[in-house]
Amino acid sequence: MPNTGLDILAIAAHRDDVEQTCGGTLLKMARQGHRTGVLDLTQGEMGTRGTAEERAREAAEAARILRVSWRDALDIPDGRVENTWENRLKVARVIRNQKPRVVILPFWKGRHPDHYTASILGYEACFLAGLTKLDVGNAAVSTQQSAFSPSSAGGIDKNSSVVTSESSRSPHRPFKIIYATLYYDVRPSFVVDITDQFEARMESIFVYKSQYSDQAAGAADFPAHDEIRERVAAMARFYGLLAGVKYAEPFLQKEVGLVEDVTLIPVKSI
Ligand SMILES: [Zn+2]
Repeated sequence: MPNTGLDILAIAAHRDDVEQTCGGTLLKMARQGHRTGVLDLTQGEMGTRGTAEERAREAAEAARILRVSWRDALDIPDGRVENTWENRLKVARVIRNQKPRVVILPFWKGRHPDHYTASILGYEACFLAGLTKLDVGNAAVSTQQSAFSPSSAGGIDKNSSVVTSESSRSPHRPFKIIYATLYYDVRPSFVVDITDQFEARMESIFVYKSQYSDQAAGAADFPAHDEIRERVAAMARFYGLLAGVKYAEPFLQKEVGLVEDVTLIPVKSI
């Protein structure tokens, strides 16, 4: 059975990062018929709240809400995402197996070392995955049994997670890499209008009950439910206003934009 590959793969350090930074975009793309995937580099075992197992269940539920075709988590230690050769190979293996055309990475600056390291690690893995002569190995992607299973979610392509170890031998380099910048104050290259996806994205964030429900553990460090909702909405509204829509998610690309017809460039100037 041929693996047709993903159209878009979002890579992030922690389960729930993607939901916060580009979940609306993933859902929008899925609704347009694109096959989307999420790779979390860690499993969340260092979190103040909840266990890695709880977060795996929550991640699977969020994937269902965002209509993600494929999701898995690597076994890189939480709080210790390092750009090592071994880790680059782990990510490169996933890229060869899933063959995304577009990869979404976190922005390369930020407060949390896992986030900015994931950005560089992801970029270098994309490069390595395309090297014809490089053997990235065939080890299993995930060490856990709780990875998101498309067959358990309605309407999701059942072939999407079928991957043979053979495919990790053939090189693949994504065509495009874009950076989700929500965690860092930088002017984006473009934003994606997620007005129609906003409520679903909010729902995908709140399925991480171990992180976001009002509870005693870590109450000093974790804002309450209403506070989070307001914060998420304010950020999305801010980026929406930049482009004249209600809610949006910000991205940065290193390349320049290419235009065929200047009369069709969106976003009003004055
Ligand atoms: Zn994170």
